[in-house]
Amino acid sequence: MKKANLIMLGAPGSGKGTRAVALCEVLNVVQVATGDLFRNNIKGGTELGKLAKSYIDKGELVPDEVTASMVKDRLQQPDTQKGFILDGFPRTIKQAEMLESILKELGEEITAVIFLDVPDAEIVKRISGRVICEKCQAPYHKEYSPSKVEGVCDKCGGKLYTRDDDKPETVLNRLEVFRKNTFPLVEFYEKKGLIVRIPPELSAEGAVSDMRKLSQELGLL
Ligand code: ADP
Ligand code: ZN
Repeated sequence: MKKANLIMLGAPGSGKGTRAVALCEVLNVVQVATGDLFRNNIKGGTELGKLAKSYIDKGELVPDEVTASMVKDRLQQPDTQKGFILDGFPRTIKQAEMLESILKELGEEITAVIFLDVPDAEIVKRISGRVICEKCQAPYHKEYSPSKVEGVCDKCGGKLYTRDDDKPETVLNRLEVFRKNTFPLVEFYEKKGLIVRIPPELSAEGAVSDMRKLSQELGLL
């Protein structure tokens, strides 16, 4: 069986977070989501959080060095030994190159890069309607995958809120940033034979069974 060191690649709102969480459940590995790590730092009022917030609020990327060093720290924690799902990293070619040297140092390799291929029009629909849990960051969609009780997280009872950077103006900028900076990673990883394309799925409901099937196909289960 191969070790699951996976990368989730997809536009904002493509459903990569939901799929990453499902994969973690199926494969019993940890999710490393740079957006979540930044938001935790913002909540905790750290220096890193203050710096990150100034970029995130504009829908821009946090500088590569800052992001890569945060990821490096995270990947050195013992809970990543069994495998990890990188969600939201890398987002630039530079970050992908930095990741290669981080993994080399740690004696690890990428197993596969899962690309969620979602049309732009769909993305905008998905983001407007997205809410996340203030405590555990679980994502919901008001229409496509609502929580059982409105405004309350199914998993932990936390309050659901709309992220500041999910406002329409910021979303357009994030999509632009994705196209310009992140989309080239599809070709980058395609050349390495690592890309696995998966079709968009509207609801979060089938995520676990879909990801179980995918894991079997990839020889991870
Ligand atoms: P989404 O995938 O919906 O855009 P994330 O939670 O992954 O949301 O990211 C939110 C914001 O955090 C991004 O718009 C960006 O400003 C910052 N961010 C997250 N990951 C990275 C990264 N790898 N490099 C630079 N900035 C990042
Ligand atoms: Zn929660």
